[in-house]
Amino acid sequence: MLKKIDHIGIAVDDLEAVAATFAALGVEPEFTEEVTDQMVRVLGFHVGESTIEYLQATSSESPIAKYIAKKGNGIHHIAYRVDNLQETLDTLQAKGFQLIDQQPRQGAEGKLIAFVHPKSSNGILIELCEKIA
Ligand code: ZN
Repeated sequence: MLKKIDHIGIAVDDLEAVAATFAALGVEPEFTEEVTDQMVRVLGFHVGESTIEYLQATSSESPIAKYIAKKGNGIHHIAYRVDNLQETLDTLQAKGFQLIDQQPRQGAEGKLIAFVHPKSSNGILIELCEKIA
């Protein structure tokens, strides 16, 4: 069901500082993108087959702003790649998992994403993600 780690989402309050840190290592970001649905700006680095996504809130209503206010910069979620996101969500729901998103929505890099509620995954926020060819 879970194919690989698609990306790790890290909440930060300053993307420019992150970019500067990676630049000092000689590493340029693969992409920068605003995901309006999640109210975040994303700075993405491909690392092997996975991606590290640094997320900065664009609004105080963003889940990332709320996370930072509570915990500061830190790992926000782990995203697993699945083949068919809607089917996976239906399966999880049938098994009694609590979902934040019953239906896929738009994530970075054109992917479909959905979040599983931490109450159903040991307090860790899990994202499921399908790559659209
Ligand atoms: Zn994510």
